[in-house]
Amino acid sequence: MTTVIDGKAVAADVREQLANSVDTLRDADVTPTLATVLMSDDPASETYVSMKQRDCEEVGIEARDVRISADAPADELFETIEDLNADTDVDGILVQMPVPDHVDKQAVLRSIDPEKDVDGFHPENVGRLVAGDARYKPCTPHGIQKLFESIDLDPEGKDVVVVGRSDIVGKPMANLLIQKAEGGNATVTVCHSRTRDLAEKTRQADVVVAAAGVPELVDGSMLSEGAVVVDVGVNRVDADTEKGYELVGDVDYDSAAEKASAITPVPGGVGPMTRAMLLYNTVKAASRQEDVPVELP
Ligand code: NDP
Repeated sequence: MTTVIDGKAVAADVREQLANSVDTLRDADVTPTLATVLMSDDPASETYVSMKQRDCEEVGIEARDVRISADAPADELFETIEDLNADTDVDGILVQMPVPDHVDKQAVLRSIDPEKDVDGFHPENVGRLVAGDARYKPCTPHGIQKLFESIDLDPEGKDVVVVGRSDIVGKPMANLLIQKAEGGNATVTVCHSRTRDLAEKTRQADVVVAAAGVPELVDGSMLSEGAVVVDVGVNRVDADTEKGYELVGDVDYDSAAEKASAITPVPGGVGPMTRAMLLYNTVKAASRQEDVPVELP
């Protein structure tokens, strides 16, 4: 029997517990507040931002929706971030990526106050994560750790292959899994586009986390019997649907499910967890900055 890991259900559970933490904060006259900053006309980015706004409202987090014209000078974005850094009512700041080409992305990440950096991408927060003293864990890998917990999977001693080495998924996932800490202690191999014989690596793995952005890159023939498979990928491929496309993961679900002991679906696996963990980091940010202790899920 293959367990289908229900990200929607786990995320709903996290949100419910966070709503209680928000109540605790509100009882102490603290309104946790997230500012999202969008500097883009890309419809996908707009959709992501509005989902984040809605998610906040659902658990009682106040959401500010800051928009900057995509052709505005870069300084307008930096001044906006400075204002939000200085605004004591704002606990978390999220700049929706990608920013336009004329804006230096790394400079944007560095400009956010690390205490308000709820994505966890500021170099100080990346450094703390690597050093085993994370302030805010990046949302997608943190959400995947929660999915492991939900199926009682302790990564300790397991061979894990992470496919992808991006700063937002692959690298922080690997860093979390090698920590000498709960939810870590795995033996991790990180693969990428220059990896020789990917299938040979994934076949050795107890757990495969696929985050390459390549539709159905990992199939059943690349897995060992009983592997746990986490599909991070969200890829738009042409399809005979109303919209003219469909979203597929980085894993060929049907063949992988035949081999796997547990697998995440797309949609309904990792995606809902990424969204829930942003709320988690925002509640944590409010709790830290306002010095009101709360329980976190
Ligand atoms: P990036 O494009 O930043 O990184 C992709 C990584 O995969 C790179 O390290 C790349 O290698 C590697 N890669 C590409 N092709 C191959 C290949 N054939 N074999 C092995 N490795 C390969 O992507 P992201 O990490 O941002 O995202 C990955 C996927 O996850 C995307 O589909 C994205 O949409 C999705 N995503 C989903 C989220 C969710 O919440 N569900 C959240 C974030 C992302 P190299 O470094 O050598 O180029």
